[in-house]
Order: sequence, then structure tokens, then C-alpha cells
Amino acid sequence: MPEGDTIFRAARTLHRALAGHEVVRFESMFPALTRIHEDTPVTGRQVERVSAAGKHLLIGLSGDLVLRTHMRMNGSWHIYRVGEPWQRAHHDMRIVVATTAFEAVGFNIPIAEFLSPRALARQPDLRSMGPDLLGATFDQPEAIRRFRGRPEVSIADALLNQRLVAGAGNVYKSEVLFLCGVNPFALVRDVNDEQLAAILSTARKHLQANVVDPASAIVTYRGYRRTTGRSDPAERLYVYGRERLPCRRCGTPIRMRAQGPYARLTYWCPTCQHT
Ligand SMILES: [Zn+2]
Repeated sequence: MPEGDTIFRAARTLHRALAGHEVVRFESMFPALTRIHEDTPVTGRQVERVSAAGKHLLIGLSGDLVLRTHMRMNGSWHIYRVGEPWQRAHHDMRIVVATTAFEAVGFNIPIAEFLSPRALARQPDLRSMGPDLLGATFDQPEAIRRFRGRPEVSIADALLNQRLVAGAGNVYKSEVLFLCGVNPFALVRDVNDEQLAAILSTARKHLQANVVDPASAIVTYRGYRRTTGRSDPAERLYVYGRERLPCRRCGTPIRMRAQGPYARLTYWCPTCQHT
């Protein structure tokens, strides 16, 4: 599942490319979207704003229409200059929103719907979403309160639950818990407030570090994420994807196990994360 920083950067790239411009072409593999486009055309509308809310990407169009998409496990948005070859197969295309200069292409997006701004405000997933780690402000006491409401859940699964806190995905889950020295299988009730606060602020700090604007130019998103602070791609993560390799801090072999109801892979150091 894409992390919040991926969605945030995709939204920023799409915003830069599309905002203030008229949609000249709209395509979709979703019959419900196509029906609305036929009734009340998307072409001719202006793209007003593209934004991220947790893992939802929202494309606001003039005339009170918002396209909400959610990437789930495999979905992604790419931006191309018109005529530039796509990096993914055409049969993976689900949505195209094009201006005269750019094409935003949604690949393998499983969830997409048009909503009015009012309906968006009532959208159940967005309404139930926890404080957003990439939000301009972050209500940490509220996030902690929500975690405390799920004492029987493992801390790793809790961190992925967007109703508790929005924005962290499976890579950050393992990395943040390593950085905080917390065992991913510990139950929320066994993680004290100080540790919880450290987990949340570490997650926010690293997610934000990965959305620092590299340049003002419009670039197609390339996955690049690091938590170690090193620039060598082979050294940019502490535990994620490093099963059986020595821990960067203590040398103990990193372990990996599927965890939780969706069997998401968890990586951890049994020495550094003993609590
Ligand atoms: Zn270690």
C-alpha cells in the first residue's frame, strides 16, 4: 500500500501540472464515472485543486465536483506530458484527466467516485479518518486517544489503521517502530504514552522529510524513501526488506513475519526492539 508521503507527492505533482487548467479529455474504466461524465461533462471544467487526505487523492473540479480516488495496494497516479510514453501498460489505465499540456493517468486504481463537496464532507472513510500525519497540523492527543481505544491490537497493526492515524503505510510501520525501539507485536495497551508519542512524532517527522520539495519543477513521481538519513539507496532503510541482514545498530539478523488480518510483512530487530 502506498504510504501517505507517496500520495502527498502525487497530489502535489498533479496539482502543479493541472491546477488552473481546463480538462480537455477525460477517460475512465469505471462505468459510474463515465456515466457522470456523459451527464455532466468533466471536459470543459477547470482543475481547481489536487490534494491528499491520508491515502485519498482528491481532484477538485469547477462546478462542484470532486474526484476521490484511493490507491489501496497497487493503485498509482502518474503525470505525463502529452505524447510522453506511459511507464505502465495501457490495460492498467483506469482514469485519464488531461489538459492541453499534461495527462494525469491513474493506473490500477480500485476506488474512484465523483462527489459534490458536500458529499465529500460526509464520505464515511474520510469522516472516520484519524489525524493525518502529513496534515498542516497534527492532533497528537486525539491520535493517542484513538490508539487507547484499541488496547488489544498490536502496535504495528494500529499504526496501519487509518481510523487511528492517517498516512503511515507498511514501510514506515517497520521503520518507525525500529527507530523507537518498540516491538511490532506489542499490544497497544503495553505501549506507554511516552512511547506512543515518540512513535507518532517519529512517523510524522520521517513522512514529512520525504515530502520536502526537491525542486519546483514538475517531475513524474519516482518512489524514493529513506529513514536512515543516508543517500546511498542500499542504505536508506533500517529494517524494511532486510530479512536476515545484520541490524545497522547491533548486528543481530533482522527478522520478518507476516502480521495482522491482512498478513502485512513486518521487519524488526529482536535485540533493538525487545519491549
Ligand atoms: Zn538491532
